[in-house]
Amino acid sequence: MFEPDEPRSLPASAMLGSGYEDDEPPSISRRHPIWQAVPQEQWDDWRWQTQNAIRSVRQLRHLLSFRPEELEAIGQLERDYKVAIPPYYFSLIDPHNPADPIRLQSVPSPQEGENPSGYELEDPLEEDKDSPVPGLTHRYPDRVLMITTPNCSMYCRYCTRKRATLTRGGWEGSSGDDERMIDYIRRTEAIRDVVISGGDPLTLPLGKLRFYLDQLKAIDHVDVIRVGTRVPVTLPQRLYDNELVDLLASAEKVYIQTHFNHPREITPESARVCRTLLRNGMMINNHSVLLKGVNDNLETMRNLLRGLLRIKVRPYYLFHCDPVIGAGHFRTSVWTGLEIMEGLRGHMSGIGIPTYVVDSPHGGGKIPLMPNYLVSMSNDSVVLRNYEGLLIRYQAEDKPATTEPTMTRGVSSLLQGSRSALIPEGLERLARRRRNAEPCVPPPEDAPCAGAGEPTSAEPADTLKLSLTVLPSLPDTAYHNESATR
Ligand code: SF4
Repeated sequence: MFEPDEPRSLPASAMLGSGYEDDEPPSISRRHPIWQAVPQEQWDDWRWQTQNAIRSVRQLRHLLSFRPEELEAIGQLERDYKVAIPPYYFSLIDPHNPADPIRLQSVPSPQEGENPSGYELEDPLEEDKDSPVPGLTHRYPDRVLMITTPNCSMYCRYCTRKRATLTRGGWEGSSGDDERMIDYIRRTEAIRDVVISGGDPLTLPLGKLRFYLDQLKAIDHVDVIRVGTRVPVTLPQRLYDNELVDLLASAEKVYIQTHFNHPREITPESARVCRTLLRNGMMINNHSVLLKGVNDNLETMRNLLRGLLRIKVRPYYLFHCDPVIGAGHFRTSVWTGLEIMEGLRGHMSGIGIPTYVVDSPHGGGKIPLMPNYLVSMSNDSVVLRNYEGLLIRYQAEDKPATTEPTMTRGVSSLLQGSRSALIPEGLERLARRRRNAEPCVPPPEDAPCAGAGEPTSAEPADTLKLSLTVLPSLPDTAYHNESATR
């Protein structure tokens, strides 16, 4: 077995042959060459994975390359912050790429010691100030969050709750806190939804987890128990344990709230445990965090979301990375998030699109952000923009117009009711409509012609365009056609 403290170089030939480019998730199972000889039974055992997790810079330096000054800096950070990377999750890292997205999430960086803007805080969401009893945050009227453990199977370097999880000696709950948290929930009838979080509650001993689940299940006004866990992503082997799955299922009210950030994290192993959870009646929602270098581009985000749909995990939130101390290098502009959202809505299935949120300072909670689809408004109508750039007049109420249509230009013409749409030139969808509407000339062998039977329309192209305008006498309304905006 690999003794990680022994210096070992990784033979180039031993690097996993399949490459690390992002194939369609779930892709293949990966195993770092250093663990190739480990029997499958051991590899699949969460205890083995936990016992053999990479937990020190000394181990890391034999597995990955670092610049000397990097090693020195992360060596110093090690005194303050924990590291844990199970062999399974470590094997997803491309060891040749210092900017690998899995590496960025799990391996410490010298930048964790920096806070150049001074904006990053220990408790950026002020969770501790909204804690009526230790470990429990009550911010929204009907929901609470319980911190049940400081432990995680892998410590994400950007963790919002770093003060409790990564920081050595950061959080020490007492068994008295468990009782007090449950008692507070029992006494507060407005609470409908409880998030069991941490750290990662699936690292808890089963007895402790059973205590929380049994107590919460027995409280009538609690409808939903959300278990926040990254175990399906970082240590899926934990969920190969039927006893744990049965325990979660037995609580009946459990939803899983997991945290995939990159398509490469969607593996046959993680897909397997998501299937198990779903078969046992637990819906799985995903939170991703928008992270520089990890998933801050449209293509990666689309692959991630499509991959999640493939394994029936619902993309729920895309969080802007919180301003937590030492995570500044992960934070992008809000514009990056909006640009990604612009590339999702309309371009992929709505069930795969998360809500992009900023969790606001001063305990303000989640604030959703999205590109602007409402362009203008009047007493009679609104002007909306769709993903294609089509500007459209929409009359929301069934009532007579309060003004007569007035000839005017542009967006105003929509508000004034003289047009019902401004159509960008060269719109692919309208070209498709025209093609579908072309008269069907059966080929000699009587094969069906292209477009036959498609429900779109049998109207000629001109009618289609005119049908989008309120006043048929107006010419077409393509954006950069002068005659369209007279
Ligand atoms: S698993 Fe969750 S709680 Fe644990 S370090 Fe990662 S983000 Fe933080």
